[in-house]
Amino acid sequence: MLLEHRHLLGIAELNAGEINTILDLAENYIEMNREPQRKGNRLKGRTVVNLFFEVSTRTRASFELAAMRLGADVINMDAEASSFRKGETLIDTAMTLNAMHIDVLVVRHPASGAVKLLSDKVNCSVINAGDGQHEHPTQALLDALAMRRRKKKLEGLNVVICGDVLHSRVARSNIFLLNKLGAQVRVVAPYTLLPRDVAQLGCEVHTRMETGLKNADIIMMLRLQKERMEGAFIPSAREYFHFFGLDRKKLAYAKPDALIMHPGPMNRGVEIDSEVADDIQRSMILEQVELGVAVRMACLDLLSRPLQRAGLAEAAQ
Ligand code: ASP
Repeated sequence: MLLEHRHLLGIAELNAGEINTILDLAENYIEMNREPQRKGNRLKGRTVVNLFFEVSTRTRASFELAAMRLGADVINMDAEASSFRKGETLIDTAMTLNAMHIDVLVVRHPASGAVKLLSDKVNCSVINAGDGQHEHPTQALLDALAMRRRKKKLEGLNVVICGDVLHSRVARSNIFLLNKLGAQVRVVAPYTLLPRDVAQLGCEVHTRMETGLKNADIIMMLRLQKERMEGAFIPSAREYFHFFGLDRKKLAYAKPDALIMHPGPMNRGVEIDSEVADDIQRSMILEQVELGVAVRMACLDLLSRPLQRAGLAEAAQ
């Protein structure tokens, strides 16, 4: 099956069938990544460019590995080291790269909507690797894959997202995806870290961990996104941990087999205690990282298929 889209900009634009197509293909890539020989040639001859205007460890390394394991040529561009520093606009930077006949541009940018704006100007495929507070679609896809593998299906699952929901693109993409696949979503945060319209996104809203975590199958913890905060949103990190940090005591409010997730990077002792983060029975955090590569391989693969068809049609003319 092919994706109907040329770009992957957000979960909001995908339907349940498309999400499942990506997850099903990613399952195959998990197996491939566990083999000693991990290199395929699905994207042989294609060029993938990672253009990051914000720091990243997991997402960038994961896209790079995903593209390399599919046999693509990959380059990584750090905005700090590009002509962006010389005053070039985002669009000009993207159009410059596009003129070099690249196939996929993976972009992370601090402004919500910037990746969409850029995608309208180029003819390569664009993947959103996180735009401001808006969306981070591949994170939600890898989270869904991790949940589906451990809990068999997403439908009917109680997923609780805790922490800085206000500034989190991960929370938004996850809320969209989980609603599309029939999970029940709850968010737990202090009022100051909740978007005003959060319930309209499709979730139950709680401001106390004790009630919010009741019956949870999955607990997804979020980092305080200080880089997006103007002013003080919490009295202190210590007080935040006391009320909203996940530790053994708060974990006990959830189901006995509830699993813990975190998109990373973690701030230990702020939103999560090391004891639960490192509990291999309950924590899926490193599994999320592993599955991230497979999900990004699936996205790169599927987005390249229509291009390959177009290429074949051109070659036949
Ligand atoms: N890595 C995730 C993101 O880029 C979450 C985070 O930074 O806290 O949105």
